This record gives sequence, structure tokens and C-alpha cells, in this order.
Amino acid sequence: MAAEDKDHTVEIEGLNLKTSYQQLPAKLFTSVRPTPVKKPAVVMYNESLGKDLGVAVKNPDSSKIAAVFSGNEIPKDALPIAQAYAGHQFGHFTVLGDGRAILLGEQITPKGERYDIQLKGSGRTPYSRRGDGRAGLGPMLREYIISEALHALGIPSTRALAVVSTGETILREKRLPGAILTRVASSHIRVGTFEYIAHFGNINELKALADYTIERHFPNMMSTSPPETEDYGNREGSDNKYLSFFEQVLDRQALLMAKWQLIGFIHGVMNTDNMALSGETIDYGPCAFMNRYDPDTVFSSIDRGGRYAYKNQPQIAQWNLARLAETLIPLIHQDQAQGIEIVKKSLQTFSLRYERYWRQNMGKKIGIFQASKEDVPLMEELLQIMKEENQDFTNTFFALTYDKENELTIKEHEQFLAWLDKWKARLEEQKKTEGEVKELMRAHNPVLIPRNHQVERAIDAAVEKEDYSVMENLMKALRSPYQFSSEKEPYQLPPDPSDKPYVTYCGT
Ligand code: AMP
Ligand code: MG
Repeated sequence: MAAEDKDHTVEIEGLNLKTSYQQLPAKLFTSVRPTPVKKPAVVMYNESLGKDLGVAVKNPDSSKIAAVFSGNEIPKDALPIAQAYAGHQFGHFTVLGDGRAILLGEQITPKGERYDIQLKGSGRTPYSRRGDGRAGLGPMLREYIISEALHALGIPSTRALAVVSTGETILREKRLPGAILTRVASSHIRVGTFEYIAHFGNINELKALADYTIERHFPNMMSTSPPETEDYGNREGSDNKYLSFFEQVLDRQALLMAKWQLIGFIHGVMNTDNMALSGETIDYGPCAFMNRYDPDTVFSSIDRGGRYAYKNQPQIAQWNLARLAETLIPLIHQDQAQGIEIVKKSLQTFSLRYERYWRQNMGKKIGIFQASKEDVPLMEELLQIMKEENQDFTNTFFALTYDKENELTIKEHEQFLAWLDKWKARLEEQKKTEGEVKELMRAHNPVLIPRNHQVERAIDAAVEKEDYSVMENLMKALRSPYQFSSEKEPYQLPPDPSDKPYVTYCGT
């Protein structure tokens, strides 16, 4: 039974926090306690994630749970800190750090995995600059929905364990109810964390962070190379530990970008402080899902130049990785000029890695088990038709998967009909049954995605009317995105064409 101990730290059954990050050089963080809130109440609790973490919360509505997930009480063994980091924001170097997030510690799951437990919106820290350290209920519910949806879609992401309303209001363009999100991540080490230590630390501190990151995310790195690396050309031997580390990060990001593109996810603010070395999607600000296929899609109101538009995401990831590479040069080679040459060669493999992941996974979306470069024109032609004919990205693949081509508005479009013939002929070349092809397609084409208008409706009901049923139903559907059922049909509808273009704001 959980009980309060004499230090006023509460115990939650199964929550056993470790604090390995706090052993790193002191420059990387500041100890700081969450600022208590008036009247915390748990509004969302992710039971299945809690279970995976090994945390036994029997009554999420209890005041003790609200106290822990709001930061009013510090769980046993936690060592609350705000992490320091820098970052390139829209191309410009800035010193940042957790201005409104506090890391409590790391939970070791029953399977032995290590996850950060972080409170987001938990009050000011030394890195808050002019911010209030707080977060709004709407944006925290949004992060809860979208991060959990991405996870269910099979896309690496930070997770959301709980949302607590604070009973306080915060000031943005208007007054909003405040909230705190409990975020769970493989780690919160960002490209910006390396930029920070490279800028303000010495080589030993940089090495300590790199060694820690390797140990935490790539413990078997020297014995396993990323898949088929030999195809990316002859470069410096794999005995260079820090180069191998860089290439592992590169490979995970290449895969993540392919997955984002193939699901129509637009992050919206791909600054280097919002890129995690674990390869998880992190920091859900102005992100949104594309409806109609249009590579120029941008949702964020602050992204006026379209730097983070859908079509730019892979090349921005590569740009961010170049910033990471710069920080690692002193560890890769004593001679700077040689170090630069070495990392440049590695960096150049990013597009090859990305294109391969994209091609393989796009192949699966159209039922091709082993897509080769010769299949790319077929893939690109479909996308070109979708773009020119304003077709919904998710629903077009859905129609191809579930034999509903007749429901598409392009069902009589000449080029599309010709494309269908070419596609079917290509599928015939495989020694696979129709059942096998459909199974592959079903596993790679979601029935539904968190459509922006549906997400907003769920958040509005929760924030304006304290009605969480809309969000709960939406979450239920989003938990199994690859399984079709008739209850999911309402969530498949794209927004009404008369809707104003969707805009996301950074006021998170
Ligand atoms: P983001 O755009 O959410 O990645 O945030 C960029 C930086 O601003 C991060 O260092 C955040 O911690 C910080 N930040 C965002 N909102 C606030 C806030 N309300 N108070 C203090 N810091 C904030
Ligand atoms: Mg951020």
C-alpha cells in the first residue's frame, strides 16, 4: 500500500525512479522543484502505458495521484531537474533549456527499459526566460492525443502518461485553464543538448554526454551496424566509436522521416532542440496531419516561410543532423579538417538512407513486398495524381487497400485508371496471393489518423464543457488505427471543403 514517508515524498506502487542523468556534468541541468498548483485533478490517465512502465495506479482520480502528476508532491527517489540545452530555432542558434518542464527521474520498466518521467508545464525554471513555466489544458490534451496516436501508428514517439488540470488559469492570447502533462520518453537528449555542451563545455564534458547517450540508446552499437550500411559507400572504419554513434542517430532519423512522410505527419517546428537522439518524435507544438495530399502543406502560423513544410522535413532533418555532426567533430578526429571530411561523408548518406526507407515503406503501402528503384516512378505517379486531383492522402491509400476505388472522386479519371492497370500488373509479378498483398497493405495503411478537425472537436468539448467523452472515444479509435470497423467511419471523414484552412499556433 502506498504511503507518505517522513520526507513528504510520496510513494506510488511500482514507481522506482533512477537518476542517471543527474550524474552527468553539472552544466547540463539545474536542480529545481515544480511550483505547486492550486487544485490539481487528473483528467487523463493512460492506464496501458502505466502498466507497461510497471506503475500500479489503482485509482487515478485520487488526490495523491493528482499531487504527484502535478508536481505538488515529489515521488520517492526523484531528483527534479530542468535540463539545459541550446538549439537552432528557424536556423538561428539560441540558448534554451527546459523553461517549463521538470525531469523527475527515470523509470525502469519490468522489461528493464529506461524511460524519463517528465512534468511539462510544472512552473518556472532558470531557463524560462520570459515564459511563465506553464502550459494550457488544450495544448497538453493535444500532445496526449497526437503522441499516443503516433505511437499506435507505429511511429517512434514520446508518450503521455497523464494530464492534470491545475485549477489555475494562464494568460496567452486569452485566459486558458492550466494543465501539466506527464511525458514519458526514451530520453530527452536532443541535438540541442549536444549543441549546448559543445558551446559551453569542454571536451571531457562533451565526451561524458556522448558516452552516456551511447550507453543509453545504442549499447550494442559497435557490434551491430545499421542495416545495409555497406551500400552507403566506403567511409572511415566502424571502429570510430563516435562516428558510429553519429551514423546510428542518422539512420534512426532517416527512418523517422520516412515514417512521418508516409503517414502525412507535419511536425511544424523542427528546430534542433525538438529533435531527440533516441529517434522519437518529440515536442508537439504546432504539428498536424495532412488531409489533401499537397507537399507544400504548412499549418503553423509562425512558419511563414514554410521552412518546416511537409516536403521539407527530410532535408531539414539532415540540416539538423549537420548541427549535431559539428558538435561531434572533436571526438571523431583530433584534426579538425579531417574530422569535417569524415562527418561530411556520413552526412551525405542521409538521403540514401531516407530514400531507401521511404521506398521500402511506400512499396508496402501499395502492396509491393520488395520495392526496388524501378518502382519509384509508379509511386510518384500516384502521388502526382493525388496532388493534381486534390485527393485525401490517407483515404486514397485506404481505398486501394479495401477495394473501395469506386468511392474515390477520381474513379473515372483516365490517368488514375491507367495507373491502376500498371499497379495491378506490377503486383502480378510477385509470387504472392491477393490475401498476402492485402494483409501487407492493411498493415501499412491506417484506417484513420488524428484529423485536425476531429482533434479540435475533442479538445473543445473537454476544455469548454469538461466533457471528456469525445476525446475518450477518439482515443479509443486511434488506439487501433490499422483495424477497420464501422465505428471508425465517422473519424475517416476529411474536413468539410468549406472549412477555413487549418492553422496551428505556437501558443502552447
Ligand atoms: P518549444 O517551441 O515548445 O520547443 O519551446 C522552445 C523553448 O521555449 C523551450 O526551451 C521551452 O522550454 C521554452 N518554453 C515554451 N513555453 C514556455 C513557457 N510557457 N514558459 C517558459 N518556457 C517556455
Ligand atoms: Mg521544444
